[in-house]
Amino acid sequence: MALPLILIIEDEATLRRFLAPTLLNQGYQVIQASTAAEGISMARSYNPDLVLLDLGLPDQDGLKVLEEIRSWSRRPVIILSARNQERVKVQALDLGADDYLAKPFGASELLARIRVALRHSVQSLRPEPIFEHGGLRVDLEKREVAVNGNSVHLTALEYKLLEALVQRAGKVATHAQLLADVWGPGAEGQTHYLRIYMAQLRNKLEANPTRPRYFLTEAGVGYRLNVEE
Ligand code: CA
Repeated sequence: MALPLILIIEDEATLRRFLAPTLLNQGYQVIQASTAAEGISMARSYNPDLVLLDLGLPDQDGLKVLEEIRSWSRRPVIILSARNQERVKVQALDLGADDYLAKPFGASELLARIRVALRHSVQSLRPEPIFEHGGLRVDLEKREVAVNGNSVHLTALEYKLLEALVQRAGKVATHAQLLADVWGPGAEGQTHYLRIYMAQLRNKLEANPTRPRYFLTEAGVGYRLNVEE
């Protein structure tokens, strides 16, 4: 089987000099572009398994590149963004990016995000019915939830929220995505619903709800169901 091919679209040469060898070391194949135009054309000619996309490109906004790729491909796209760009990150995720990495990031964080994104893109063909991490176990077929072997009763809305997070396990889920999944279209602005139900989930499923291990907050963006130890 061919090794996954990763396309890096990033204008900072120093960052590409870190990314390319890090990925090659793990056995990925790597191709690189330094402008939006080059990135779009390489994405079209090589159809990479995953794209790492910088949002601040010299010739065009990275969001435009994302839209172009999403018009024909469902393959994972991970955004590389500067810090304090919550609004743009959320926009990118709502436009169909799979995840983001805030600069500066380390090699282990990068590789973990890539593993999760590639696993999801394979799994979407045959979804995994059981999620297990640490002591948390969620059976999506039987709709059963347990912590350390003890089953936990959730209300219908709590369960829907958990299910939405499990379906994106390891990846960030934006407020708007979770609200649309759980409360339906039109609820995207009601972030206080989420705060309330996330607190309830943490109370029922976390050993220490104020220092969550499973349900992580992504400040200004959304939540992430942790799959790392
Ligand atoms: Ca840049």
